[in-house]
Parts: sequence; C-alpha cells; structure tokens
Amino acid sequence: MSKRIKVGNVYIGGGSPVTVQSMLSRRSDDIEGSAAQAKELESAGCDIIRAAVPDKDAVRLIAKLKESVKAPIVADIHFDWRLAIESVAAGADKIRINPGNIGSDDRIKAVADCCRAHGVPIRVGVNSGSLERELLAKYGSPTPEALTESALGSIEKLRRFDFEDIVVAIKSSDVGTMVKACRMLAQRTDCPLHIGVTEAGGERMGLIRSAAGIGALLLDGVGDTIRVSLTADPLLEVRAGLDILRAIGLGRGATVVSCPTCGRTRIDLIPLAERVEKAVAGVRAPIKVAVMGCAVNGPGEAREADVGIAGGDGCAVLFKKGEIVRKAPEGEIFGLLMEEMNALEREWEKTNG
Ligand code: SF4
Repeated sequence: MSKRIKVGNVYIGGGSPVTVQSMLSRRSDDIEGSAAQAKELESAGCDIIRAAVPDKDAVRLIAKLKESVKAPIVADIHFDWRLAIESVAAGADKIRINPGNIGSDDRIKAVADCCRAHGVPIRVGVNSGSLERELLAKYGSPTPEALTESALGSIEKLRRFDFEDIVVAIKSSDVGTMVKACRMLAQRTDCPLHIGVTEAGGERMGLIRSAAGIGALLLDGVGDTIRVSLTADPLLEVRAGLDILRAIGLGRGATVVSCPTCGRTRIDLIPLAERVEKAVAGVRAPIKVAVMGCAVNGPGEAREADVGIAGGDGCAVLFKKGEIVRKAPEGEIFGLLMEEMNALEREWEKTNG
C-alpha cells in the first residue's frame, strides 16, 4: 500500500478515499474568473484544485484561491524554481514540479527545503512527451519501462535532499502504456500515485479513454488520486472523475442501475431513467436505485438495489430490496420513487450528515 500524504485538508494514499482533481482553465491573469471557476469545481465535488503558475504575477492567484475555496490548491510550476518557493509562501498546499526541469541540485534542494519547512508535498512525474533524452535513447520510445525509470529518477532527485512527501504521476496519452507503467511503478515505490490519461481527448472519447485507463488501475488497487483530462470545461472533468469512481464502487453518492430495455418493455423507460439519473446526481447518500423495464425480471435482477421501479403495461411497481411494495400508474411512479429516495436520504443524513 502507498503511504499517506497530507495535502491541505485532504489525504492522498495509504488507503484514504481516492480523490478527484482538476485544473483551472481560465487564464492565470484572470484572478476573479479563476476564483469563480475554483468555487464552481469545489461545489461540483472536486477535492483538489490545480492552477498553472506560469509567471510571478500568477503567484497572486494562489493567495486569491486560498481565500475563495477550502479545497487544497496545487501550484503547477514549469522550470522556474523561484515560482515554487513563492507559491508556497502564498499558501499553496502542494507543488507540481518536475525536478528534472528546474536545473541544478541547489535549486532542487531549495524547493525541497522550503516545501519541507511548510509541510507542503510535491508531485513529480513524467509524461510520455517529456521523457529524458537518455531514457529515450536507452529504450527507443516512451515505453512503460522508460516512464517508470524516469518517475523513479524524479523521486530520487527529491529524496537525496531528505524530502519524502512525494506524490508521483506517470501520464501517457496511450491508455495501455499508462496502465502498464503505473502498475510497474506501484510495485517499485510507496509514494501515492496520481493517475490519469493525458491529452485524452474531448468530452466523449476523453471520458471513455480515461475510464478505461483509470478504471483498470483502480480496480487493481493502483492509484490514489485521479484526474480526468478533457479538452472541455474542467467541470466535466470533475463530474467524469466522480462518475468513474461511482462506476467501480469507490464513489460517493447514489448510483442508478437501469436495464437496457428489450421486447418485454411496455413503459417509456429511457426518459424515466434519465430523469432518475438527473434527480440523484446531487444525492450524497450511498443509495442504489434501480430502473427496470419489467416486473417479471426487474426486481430480481436488481435485488441488491435499495429501492427501484419496474415497468408493467402502462404502469409500474415500486420495489425495495427486491420485494414489490406497491403498484402505480406510469405517470405517478417517478414521484413515488422520489419519496422513497428522499426518506432514505434523510435517514442517511441523520447519521452521516
Ligand atoms: Fe427486458 Fe425486463 Fe430485463 Fe428490462 S428488466 S431488459 S425489460 S427483461
């Protein structure tokens, strides 16, 4: 198991719940717009928010973000070690930097010393586009072995200066390479892993590729924090990340299971299932809701659901834990299901709220 690292008010690794990250897409000099976007991501469930710090002016953004949200803020730095130190002074909860990019040992040591003094972890890592020349020459291409060796090298560069609060990432836009490399890396380090498919694509294919890669790793117990990287609004990255966790049983909130419909279906199930999906999107309680097309197989197939509906001919039944509790006309069933859902939610909130 990976070791546990504290990032602001959140833990990564060591069996802590898998966290969802995203990155602000507003220009770094749009301070107000970036703060508004951070609030939006936090409300959507984003656990950790990263912001690019490309220049000295952008350090101001870190302080503004810290005022605006409770979620930990990660300063994303390329090349300039001084920006890392200034971002820590401005309140950054984590620094993302590649030790290979910041130059001499003195500079790496200065960043490590500053982060250690402030209890700020560092995320290091490699992506297939930024592999060191020597490793490219040794392996011929960004193979999983080459990426793993590079990531271990980055960890070592910090450990030489007694820095241990390290989160590590290997990113590739090739799903198979990313999965193999992260599996290898997890065998060889106890640093928590930040996982994701980089440059995954637009809303649909980016989500599918991310789900394939991130899902495969998490189901193997590899990966402590995730980022779905989409060429789209970061809000969609957060929703996608939360949905991937939900899909593999690591998520928070309600889950909907619904049947694909078949020749037995006698109610308008698809819009009903969509309505239920929308209605439970913000529910925090871990309730499983089933929306099934027929009463013959529905309740039995969805026995593990807490509550559900199964269609009849112009009507539907409400069931709980696989047992039918009542029958109602098709037009009334959504309301009845919501009543049951709300009751379960209230009960859960009483003990967990
Ligand atoms: Fe068909 Fe009923 Fe199964 Fe839905 S639950 S796929 S309607 S058999």
